[in-house]
Parts: sequence; C-alpha cells; structure tokens
Amino acid sequence: MGAGELSGAETEDPLAARRQPRLVPDARTNRGIAKDKTVVSPAGRISRMPKDTLSKRDPRYDVLFEPVRIGPVTAKNRFYQVPHCNGGGYRDPSAVAEMRRIKSEGGWGVIFTEQVEMHYTSEITPFIELRLWEDKDIPALARMADAMKSNGALAGIELAYSGVNGSNFYTREVPRAPMNSPIRTFTKDPVCARAMDKQDIRDLRKWHRNACLRARKAGYDIIELYGAHGFGVIQHFLSPLTNQRDDEYGGSLENRARLFRELISECKDAVGDTVAISVRLSLNELGGLGNPQVRDVIEMHSDLPDLWDLGHGTWEECSGTSRFTEEGAQEPLVGGIRDLTDKPVVGVGRFTSPDSMVSQIRRGVLDFIGCARPSIADPFIPRKIDEGRVEDIRECIGCNICVTGDMTMSISRCTQNPTFMEEWRKGWHPEKMNEKGESGTVLVIGAGPAGLEAARAAATRGYDVALAEAGTELGGRVRLESLLPGLATWGRVRDYRVHQISQMANVEIYYDSRLTAQDVLDFGFENVAIATGSTWRRDGVARHKLLPISIDGAMPIFTPDDLMAGRLPEGRHVVLYDDDHYYMGGVLAELLVQKGARVTLVTPSNLVSEWTINTLEQHCIQAKLIELGVEIVTAHGLNEVGSVGVTLDCTFTGRTRDLACDAVVLVTTRLPNDGLWQELKARENEWPAAGIKRIERIGDANAPAPIAWAVYAGHRFARELDTELEEGALPFRREVTELTPVE
Ligand code: ADP
Ligand code: SF4
Repeated sequence: MGAGELSGAETEDPLAARRQPRLVPDARTNRGIAKDKTVVSPAGRISRMPKDTLSKRDPRYDVLFEPVRIGPVTAKNRFYQVPHCNGGGYRDPSAVAEMRRIKSEGGWGVIFTEQVEMHYTSEITPFIELRLWEDKDIPALARMADAMKSNGALAGIELAYSGVNGSNFYTREVPRAPMNSPIRTFTKDPVCARAMDKQDIRDLRKWHRNACLRARKAGYDIIELYGAHGFGVIQHFLSPLTNQRDDEYGGSLENRARLFRELISECKDAVGDTVAISVRLSLNELGGLGNPQVRDVIEMHSDLPDLWDLGHGTWEECSGTSRFTEEGAQEPLVGGIRDLTDKPVVGVGRFTSPDSMVSQIRRGVLDFIGCARPSIADPFIPRKIDEGRVEDIRECIGCNICVTGDMTMSISRCTQNPTFMEEWRKGWHPEKMNEKGESGTVLVIGAGPAGLEAARAAATRGYDVALAEAGTELGGRVRLESLLPGLATWGRVRDYRVHQISQMANVEIYYDSRLTAQDVLDFGFENVAIATGSTWRRDGVARHKLLPISIDGAMPIFTPDDLMAGRLPEGRHVVLYDDDHYYMGGVLAELLVQKGARVTLVTPSNLVSEWTINTLEQHCIQAKLIELGVEIVTAHGLNEVGSVGVTLDCTFTGRTRDLACDAVVLVTTRLPNDGLWQELKARENEWPAAGIKRIERIGDANAPAPIAWAVYAGHRFARELDTELEEGALPFRREVTELTPVE
C-alpha cells in the first residue's frame, strides 16, 4: 500500500480557476489591499455574477406550490416540516417558537412541533420535548402556534403517548404498555411498564380527547398522533412484538389496530370539524410490523385519518446520516401507498433538491415533501425555490449534529445553519445579518469552515473582507474530510459558502498566503479573525493518557492529518488507536481497509466511535467495521509503542497485553494552530498604531471541536464585530421562569 489520492468529494472548488495572487501589503498605503482594492491585481479579482433580483421560480417547480387539502384545513403548498426535536422543548419555549416562526417566514406550508407529551403518565425524561399535561401548558404552545402561522403556514402538533418508551423518571408514574414489559429506551432503564387494562384504555381515550381540546385552544390546525420510530403507543399496540395481548386489542391485525381506530375517532369526535387529525407511522419495523403489514393497516383504514405521515422505521433509520443513507432512501418503502388511500401522504428523505422533490410528487410517491433536517439547515428552502434562488439553498449535510442537541439534552446546533436555535436567544436570523458597525475592514486568516463563514457573514453585514488562505484550495478540514469514505456530502459546508462569497463584491480571496504576525500588523485591517485550524497530536495524549506515551522511533506513526494528506502506512497490519470517539477513527479504519491494510481498531471505550450514539449512527459504524473485517479491541488504552508492536492496557484491570503491528495510526485529539495568535497577542501594544481594533482566534484555532462549532464561531465573530457586551450581561437570552409563590 502506498501514498494515494483520496477521492469522493461531491464537487470541485468553483473558485479554483479564479485565483487571487498572494496577499501582500500595499507598499503605497502600508495598509493591505482591502484599503484600496484597485492597487493590488484588479485583474485577478473574482468575477461577480450580479444577482437577478427579478428572477422567479422555475415553472418546473410549480407543482410544489399547489395547495393541498388536509381534512378541514388546506396547506398553501406541499412543503411539510415534519416534527423534529431541537433540545429546547419545554425548557426553552420562546427559543423553539421563534425557530418555528422563521420557518413560517421561509415559506413552509405546514410546520410541526416536536413530540408533545400529551399526559403526565407518559414522559421521556431526561429528553426535553414539549408538554401538554394541563391547561397551564397552553400559553407556551399557543405562542408557538401563533409563530408557526405568522406567514400562512398550518400549525401542527404531534401528540405523543410514549408508553413503554418512557421511564417516567420525573413524574414517578408507572409506565403503561400493551403488555408487561421492560422499558425500551436506549438507556435500558431498570423499570417495567405494566399491561394496560380496559380502564387504562378508556382513560387513554379520554386523555387524547382532552389533549385535542387543549391543542385546539392553543390554535393548532393539525393534530398528529405519534405512532412511529417505536416511540408511540399506537405502534406498540399495532406491533405483534410489543402487543401479545389475548383480548380484543391483541391477536389479529384488526384487533391490534383497534386502539388506533379508537384514538383517531376520539380525536375526530372532539375537534375533527375544524382540526385535521393525522397519524405518524413507521413504514417498517424489523421482525414486527413490517412494510407489507403497514400497507395492510393503511388499506384497512385508508380514509380514517386526514393524512398519513410516514417515517422510515426506527428513528436511526428515519434520520440516517449521509454516511449510511442516501437522499430519498425511503422511496421503496413508501412507493405505492398513495394508491391505498385518498388522503394525502407525507414522507421524508433528507430532501434538499427541488428536482427530487418534484420527482416524488410527479411520480405519485408523495403528496407532501416532509423535511426535518433540510428545514433546519435551511428554513428558507420553499422561498428560495419560489424566488428562483435554488443555488442559494444551504443543503443539509446529513451529519446529525442537530440530533446531538436532543441526545445530550442541551440545545441543538446545525453544522450548516449556525443561527439554528439562536433565533430568539441571540436574535440571529438565518438570512439577515445585523447592521454593519463603524469599522470597515476585516481580515480572515484561514479558509476552513470557521474562516469561510466569518468571511461570508462579515461581508453580508457590509464589511470589506479579505480572506487569506495558506494553501491553494478553500475549505480547510472540510475539504480534506469530505474526501474520506462516506463523508462526501460534508463538502457542502464549503460549497455553500464559496458560492455565496463568489456573489459578493466585497470579499477578496487570496491563496498561497500563509500570513505571519508581521504581515497582519503591516496590513492593518481593523478586524482580524485567526481561523488557522488545528493539528492532530502524535504523542498518544488524549483522554486515556494525559502524558505523552513512550514511542519507539522505529515504528511508523501516522495521524489523521497524514492520512488525509495522502501519506498512508506501508505495512500490512495497522493498529488504529481511537481515543477521540467521534467519527474519525471509524472512517479512517474504513479507508485503511480500502487501501488494503489489515486493521485492528483499539479504543479505551466499550464501543467503536462511542460519541456517535448521539448522531444515531454508532451501530451502523460498528456493524460496518465488523463486516469489513476490522478487528475490534474495546476497553483498552495505548500504553506504549515499541519497534514491532504496541502494549495495551485494560481500562478495567490495568492488565497489559502486547499486539504486534507494522504501523500505528493515532486518532487521539487535536491542538489548536494558535502560534499566529500567540505572536500577535504578545505584540498587542502594536495593534493601535497598525490600525487594528480587534483580533480574535476562532474555530479550531481557538479550541478544536466538530465542524458545527467552527461554523458557529465564524458566524459569531461576524455578528459581534463592533459590538460590546454590557458588563455582567449574558451573550444570549434565556427563559427565566418566575418562582411559584409559596402558599
Ligand atoms: P476551522 O475548522 O477552525 O475552520 P481548518 O483547519 O478547517 O479550521 O482551517 C484552517 C485553515 O487555515 C486551513 O485551510 C489552513 O491552510 C489555513 N491556515 C493555517 N495557518 C494559516 C496562516 N498563517 N495564514 C493563512 N492561512 C492559514
Ligand atoms: Fe443537516 Fe447536520 Fe444541520 Fe442536522 S446538523 S440539519 S444533519 S447539516
């Protein structure tokens, strides 16, 4: 195996042919090119494509803008934002409401809440979703409905009774399910749900009625019952796996669907004259309610709900990452279902291309284009298509960083859209920047995700921006990582920003421009962002070992930086040590196998790529590596690297064992490339004379983290130019609840 070119990125750098010369100080002004852009190489300037503000939508896409009737209500178009979590939920209702309002502004026809716990006997602590337990919950949900409807969208609420899928840790109620069974959360909580008796079922019907009345009072147009992803009581009753009752609610499909019929009828009876009642079902449950049986359920009850909203199987399948799931992957499961019902059918598939959307409608697969993640990455997809600005769509990269906000009960982020969940907290709009401040020029050093976003956002605010890149291509780590197996879609982080920048008259890009501290002082830009990235460590230090380990110089050592630069191990047996625990270790193991190596992946964790539990792909990664023949050694750290092998230590007992190998790849942790920052900081007294007001290090150069963090840092840098935070103030708003008076 020798050095080889990596391949597989989605697209080429569109600016490659329009290179700027190296950024050099302008001898006349000694202030750098941004002071007088005509002085330095006007011929080399990027050619601009003036925006045709009059351009309108392509008639091919007209079908997406047809109104569609859903029971007693009508959606203005076919863009349907299906329910999605956001990590904010009941803790941050104003933040969630504003996030949904932005989607209304972006042109969606239907906008849904995340799942809403409809009764206190079924809640999913520690996950933070919405709650409709009592009348006191109505105002927050009403504010959300108002926000959703502010631009003509229909407001949908997803009522969830999670049953066996929630441990009720907060309310301490005993969970209820079709039969006695252990709780089925992925946290494997040591509690059981009890089998529901007839009274429980009557209660459940009543609670649905009450929840519907409350939802209508809060202003919702569509009420959806959650029976998908293994998370809802309807599915638990429908499935022969989770329902083994022997009364009229169990046994035959007809019987197992009884609760479904009763709940829909109860809801329709309560509010169905003015509110549409829909259901969300999974299209395939492995070993249980498979796709043919789901079709039977739909055929048997074809016109019972006002709409069928169909998810894939489990949540992991429905929200598959781009590494494992293509756009539109649901089609084989949903195709043909429209023939079984006269009611509209919604499906998902991480749709970002209007052509794929149109194709699904024209071929009769779907009536509505369901989107969760695409609507997070770009809440303005419908409007951009409508206004003929398809090339401005910020396409979801399918990384599932958004999901990690829910899984870590924090607040969701999006790699592509740094304003997601900051719409209320920080007043950030995904399409508009705050007004420009008093200074005029910005120098961004480094064109990775942080630098590209800083340049794009600062230029959108109206600053004159120079972007200096040491190399000859844009994108930094995103460019390199998008060449790795399964990560091609990640190149969209670069592509979107490069395209936007190419439309702007006030950004200049300079390649081959590795700047020094002296350069920065000579240029004298008023604002400087240092986005110089990070470097993978090659001394074994990460979490398991905090001090450098002993490494014999005879053993070839590689880091992810080496592999991404095309420097690959020569030997046959490679030990890949992963003390990083996110995607990189697994991806590089795959790469090494592709290149012909025998790979042993060693990790101190009990799982491969353990953090990817939060991106819903851990099981896919581990399964893939097993299938590829990667030998996996868990719960072992790297203790020492010798000339012919490594010594590992067990994380439980400390016992050591030797493993022979020809090369070692260390996927441990990264250190910031902050040398430039340190030098400039040491010369801070020279900044004023150079005309510099502010220098900040951003992204990985500040502290290495996932790409989403770098994009966020770049955006924040641009937002905060010429602003100061008041002493003692938080840099974001939060929901402050009043203390309930003591009686
Ligand atoms: P981030 O993820 O924080 O955006 P990246 O590692 O992706 O960081 O990108 C850093 C970029 O900065 C790389 O493209 C690198 O070539 C560039 N770079 C590093 N040092 C300098 C420098 N002194 N001058 C200009 N560009 C630099
Ligand atoms: Fe898409 Fe990633 Fe953004 Fe989620 S975080 S919406 S998967 S780009």
